[in-house]
Amino acid sequence: MAKSNAGVLISILRFKCPKCGQGDIYLNKSAFPLNSTLKTVSSCSVCGQKIKKEGSENAPGINYAVSVIVYALAIVLYVSIWGITSKDDSFIYAFLFSTVVVVSLQPWLMRLSKTIYIYILLKFS
Ligand SMILES: [Zn+2]
Repeated sequence: MAKSNAGVLISILRFKCPKCGQGDIYLNKSAFPLNSTLKTVSSCSVCGQKIKKEGSENAPGINYAVSVIVYALAIVLYVSIWGITSKDDSFIYAFLFSTVVVVSLQPWLMRLSKTIYIYILLKFS
């Protein structure tokens, strides 16, 4: 199914299947409980697209890839918040606030990173 870039972005942000954009990637709708935050379905419930490899919990190298993407996203967040607060000279508040934001968004960021990774993986495999 052909999709626009905006459509793909929306599917990623909603953690939807890379192929059809309808089925869910994650078993739980919520990021909680944290120990199953990154548990994915084996295949899309709508179109049958395989989401994870047979017999393995994750695609190879996924932890490394997820960490790298989380790191990149965290930097984007830091820079955006820094940009918002740079005018009033409050570096320490900006830094503390960014840290709180990044830490509290961590489960969501990890999901987002894994989703991006799955999209990249499925696109090129
Ligand atoms: Zn699907």
